[in-house]
Amino acid sequence: MRCPYCGEDRDKVIDSRATDGAKAIRRRRECLACSRRFTTYEYIEPNTKLVVVKRDGTRVPYDRAKMLDGLERACYKRPVSSEALQKLVEEVEEEVFRQHDREVQSIEIGRAIAERLRRIDQVAYVRFASVYKQFRDVQDLLDEVREVMETPPDPPEQGKLF
Ligand SMILES: [Zn+2]
Repeated sequence: MRCPYCGEDRDKVIDSRATDGAKAIRRRRECLACSRRFTTYEYIEPNTKLVVVKRDGTRVPYDRAKMLDGLERACYKRPVSSEALQKLVEEVEEEVFRQHDREVQSIEIGRAIAERLRRIDQVAYVRFASVYKQFRDVQDLLDEVREVMETPPDPPEQGKLF
């Protein structure tokens, strides 16, 4: 990123956070030449073409906020940072937008989210899956829980234990 003060193209990012209702990433940067600081905003280019086909066949425009909302609900009171959720949503968008250019089944988005959420937090995963998989009864739910229990989780990242 070119420094607005001295024009050098060398900087380091000193802080990075989601902003504008998670629609943008705000980065604080420091110029390596003159040490002055400036801010950049990175926006996801909305893919206005993508339509989500719901289970009942209705079509709705793709909505990132809705996806984050569902995830936040699944992670209620769980030790999952908003950065982790943000990253998850970005990965899912990348995958979904790469594989589909007009329509995507809502269940496919759900699957892509669930796959990743399962590696982050198993309780949040089961909560999320109970909505997305629409378990028919308690037995379905228990089967899912058993499967999760039998799959060893990835080791936690250092420093993220508490
Ligand atoms: Zn500079």
